[in-house]
Amino acid sequence: MLEELKEILVIQELDMKMIRLVRVKKERQKELQQIEDLRKELHAQTQEKEAEIEGLGKNIQTLESKIQEVGAKVKKLEGQQINIKKADEFNALTQEMTQAEREKIALEQKVSDLVDKRVAEEEMLTKIRDSLKSSEEGSLQVENEIRSSIKLINEEGSQLKIERDAHAKKAHPETLHIYERLLRNKKDRVVVPVENRTCSGCHIVLTAQHENLVRKGENLVFCEHCSRIHYWQENEVPEGAATVPKRRRRRATANF
Ligand SMILES: [Zn+2]
Repeated sequence: MLEELKEILVIQELDMKMIRLVRVKKERQKELQQIEDLRKELHAQTQEKEAEIEGLGKNIQTLESKIQEVGAKVKKLEGQQINIKKADEFNALTQEMTQAEREKIALEQKVSDLVDKRVAEEEMLTKIRDSLKSSEEGSLQVENEIRSSIKLINEEGSQLKIERDAHAKKAHPETLHIYERLLRNKKDRVVVPVENRTCSGCHIVLTAQHENLVRKGENLVFCEHCSRIHYWQENEVPEGAATVPKRRRRRATANF
């Protein structure tokens, strides 16, 4: 194997660990966010309901003072009627009183509807508050668990970084640079072995010539298909060399 790739392979394994850590951390952060979003949603619903109930209360108050006004008007008309002698004036007042009574009944009906509505809204508010409370209690433990797991991930991450920095200092700068550029593109292993004359990154079969170049290990050799850097594993047998004796053995066993 090309000597400068050995350090890069160590760095690559550290980077793979780091990529996994970052992925897990993002997932955990997303879980936290979901819990937080649910709570926000329930808080918003609570506030909305509270505002609705307050609005209903104000409406009810306004209507109730109108009812009192109309009631007072009826009383006043009654008082006037006692002193009236003429029949047509008396009738006119009676008509006015009947109208006012009707208005009062209509207003009372409206108030009664609004009170019913307020009761229903208050029941809903209680339900929202209950589910907010149980969600807060239930999620607290989960949240703490997630937070402490994120803390561990961060610690492991900084340990990995220290280790990586140390190896990066020892690595061949140009090769490291190429490796890092490839890694940014693929977010996966980019220095890969040739196995059975196949790129173990993209699994496309390579030429014998390409395999030879990798075996020699004199220069960086890139996969023509996926641009990954190839290396030769010491225990890898060149394609063709291993299969011949195996076939012979198999034939021999078949004959006896
Ligand atoms: Zn490839």
